[in-house]
Amino acid sequence: MAFEIDLSGKTAVITGSNSGIGLGVAIQLAKAGADIVLNSFSDTPEDHALAASVADQTGVNVRYIQADMSKADQCRALIEKAGACDILVNNAGIQHVAGIPDFPVEKWDAIIAINMSSAFHTSAIAMPMMRAAGWGRIVNIASAHGLTASPYKSAYVAAKHGVVGLTKVTALETAKDPITCNAICPGYVLTPIVEKQIPDTMKEYNMSKEDVIENILLARQPSKEFATVEQVGGNVVFLCSDAAEQVTGTTISVDGGWTAL
Ligand code: NAD
Repeated sequence: MAFEIDLSGKTAVITGSNSGIGLGVAIQLAKAGADIVLNSFSDTPEDHALAASVADQTGVNVRYIQADMSKADQCRALIEKAGACDILVNNAGIQHVAGIPDFPVEKWDAIIAINMSSAFHTSAIAMPMMRAAGWGRIVNIASAHGLTASPYKSAYVAAKHGVVGLTKVTALETAKDPITCNAICPGYVLTPIVEKQIPDTMKEYNMSKEDVIENILLARQPSKEFATVEQVGGNVVFLCSDAAEQVTGTTISVDGGWTAL
């Protein structure tokens, strides 16, 4: 039996998708035929132009819906406004780096809300819609930091471990439904969230950009290569395929061997 991946007729909602991995995932899902809902907290002409450009590139229907993933009611409203949600990709995320005694409380709260709790809120609305539609896929973008830890990233590591736990519970609660839930755990992908960390790290270690990339960022990534947004998107498309029908409650690492160490 040959497995073909045709997502036409499905609607995919990707949180935090006006840049980086979220946008890369949206484009791969669109290329597989899914209609797309892009999201972020902003509501600019550029956001809407981006939706039009993804539609032009791929030929599917693309909408942009503003919603702040740090707010429970807006997470829930995003899925309601989408009207359909066959594929939910919980991707929105932020980072802050500081030791625990100095970690700002508002940063802790924001990271837990955006990186973890938003996936609970969107899933809570999407699950009944998927059950009614008779098909659904939830893909949570966790991280290698959902499986391992690094110092100074307490909130991020806690949130991403939480997302992996939520993924397992969601899979168990939907095990008898034609719905799956999995997490993708990328290692380092060169997106704005990572690029923002480079200047501070250069200053902290008095290193060049190249040294920071090779010896700090990719220190734990044995391939010594960044993963790409296209690769993460391709894995999301695989999880939406018939071949992945019995793949649920697990993690796929896209990390160049990081978690094998
Ligand atoms: P990014 O900064 O390019 O993208 C983050 C996205 O989240 C943006 O679209 C941003 O607008 C959105 N966002 C931030 N706060 C939001 C809010 N309150 N409401 C709605 N949207 C919000 O970073 P990225 O690297 O593409 O990260 C995407 C996800 O992938 C994150 O969850 C991140 O933790 C995870 N991840 C990234 C890497 C990496 O190396 N880049 C590795 C592992 C996991």
